[in-house]
Amino acid sequence: MNMVKEKQNIFSGRTAVLGTMHKKERVIAPLFKHAFDIDVTVPSNFDSDQFGTFTREVKRRGDQLEAARYKAQSAMEISGQTLALSSEGTFGPHPAIPFFAVNRELILLLDQKNDLEISGMSVSTETNFKHGHVANFDEALAFALAAGFPEAGMVVRSAGQSEKTQKLFKGITDECSLQKAVQTVLDCSIDGTACIETDMRALYNPKRMKAIQAATHDLIKNMNSLCPACSCPGFMVTERIKGLPCGWCRQPTQQTLALTYACSRCGHNEDRYYPEGIEEADPGSCSFCNP
Ligand SMILES: [Zn+2]
Ligand SMILES: [Zn+2]
Repeated sequence: MNMVKEKQNIFSGRTAVLGTMHKKERVIAPLFKHAFDIDVTVPSNFDSDQFGTFTREVKRRGDQLEAARYKAQSAMEISGQTLALSSEGTFGPHPAIPFFAVNRELILLLDQKNDLEISGMSVSTETNFKHGHVANFDEALAFALAAGFPEAGMVVRSAGQSEKTQKLFKGITDECSLQKAVQTVLDCSIDGTACIETDMRALYNPKRMKAIQAATHDLIKNMNSLCPACSCPGFMVTERIKGLPCGWCRQPTQQTLALTYACSRCGHNEDRYYPEGIEEADPGSCSFCNP
């Protein structure tokens, strides 16, 4: 028991450096202070754009996890701290419902002192991720308002031109700037349209900030979850196993049967059955009973 407590407190009172320049500390810092008494700081000279931008001037390095790892490592090097955080979001169509956009938000903690890598995740359809083409300011404003403008920022760019010649305006949060941006792009547009999209950087996107907050809650839960074999923090879900049997015909359904938990430190893993507290699926969700 003592050992468990000790392990749980390996984070207490430390400083974590957060690799961001998009104000993510607003949602992350209070949660970390409350959960572990960790002070979250942001390096003043951190340029997260060098790791990739949503507006694609800089391509992201590697996949979501690799990109987050790279950012956290770099924040650690700049600051000399042994604890680092970074977050990385992706946006795209829902795999099952293409008309729905999905925001997958990953937050990563690296603890160099204890050789730990722990992540938190949130998957949300509560996102305003969209883009469109507009031919005048009225259309642009209608698009923007529908996406949550002016609380949500906008990006306006020229369509279908080479990256060198294209005009790009980011972080637009007032009508006057929106009008100027749209006019400038339209003035040099070949096809008479401008591209408009939601700015997905956290400080311009309240919905994304919420998703980062949810991922942070998940990370804190995983930091508090100890491996039953080596008692290290970070015993977390790595896989969802489908196939909860139907309550009528017993055939496997798409619902979750078990979650696989694994320790990133010692490799111990185990399947935990019936994570939703039910042992059979509603026949309404069965493709045999309710095709
Ligand atoms: Zn059935
Ligand atoms: Zn372990």
